[in-house]
Amino acid sequence: MKAPIRKANKPEMTEKQHTLNDVAIIEGMGVFTGAQVRVEIHPAPVDHGPSFEQVLNETSTQIGVNVKNIIETENRTVLGDIEKPECQVNLVEHVLGTLHGLGVDNALIRVNSNEVPLIDGSALPFINAVDKVGLREQDAERKEIVIEKPLFIDDNALLMALPSNTLKITYFLDHPRDFVGKRITHIEVTPDNFRKRIGPARTFIKAEKVKDLVDTGAVKHDDQSQVLVIHKDKVSQPLRFADEFCYHKMLDILGDLYLGGRRIRGHIIGVRSGHYQNRKMIRKIVEEYL
Ligand SMILES: [Zn+2]
Repeated sequence: MKAPIRKANKPEMTEKQHTLNDVAIIEGMGVFTGAQVRVEIHPAPVDHGPSFEQVLNETSTQIGVNVKNIIETENRTVLGDIEKPECQVNLVEHVLGTLHGLGVDNALIRVNSNEVPLIDGSALPFINAVDKVGLREQDAERKEIVIEKPLFIDDNALLMALPSNTLKITYFLDHPRDFVGKRITHIEVTPDNFRKRIGPARTFIKAEKVKDLVDTGAVKHDDQSQVLVIHKDKVSQPLRFADEFCYHKMLDILGDLYLGGRRIRGHIIGVRSGHYQNRKMIRKIVEEYL
């Protein structure tokens, strides 16, 4: 039997839903299309949740943020309309992670491309755009998915969701390159921590993988300032902080675990996990709680 979504039983759990005060605008180059992309994050009514609208050649397609619209893809997160397979939005994870991390319950994300721009590979451009317009409280209680019992994904890497009064993430990084190495980072996800720690952490990718993507033509805009490239003996740019790799994994977790359309309350623990395990976990969470 499916467990009900538990109502708040602690004072801080009776929070209100939030949306944006005005339209937040982000522009940047698309890595797959090589064209300029405009993203507008619009305010949305109570209980709307996050959603996408793709506007291409004057045709608009609504793409709901829910697990049914996930298109299984390696190394990134893609949402699409199952009725119209040509309508896909790539790289949704950092904008969704921003909304999850800053506490935006309701928003319509309008994109004029089949991808969200990577920009500097972090969530900072999205955070800055949202902070510029600010948030407003709405007249309804926030609806969250409250993790009530441990859930596990054990498939090449480990991802766990445990009960907790607040949203926390612990991440164990174990990278094959020694200079990236083994690290453990733990954080409580508050808007403040999100702005300072998780949000600024950039995407990282191995140099061989970049070469593959460029050689096969998958990536048209190869600007390596958009990512941290991991070479055999060094990283392409100085890190913003020592735990940047772990924090970026947390950003991806926040984005992917927003694919159920509701914020999560629980302790998420990832051990060498990535998008694949995140997607399996959110499917499991939705099956259990929605
Ligand atoms: Zn990412």
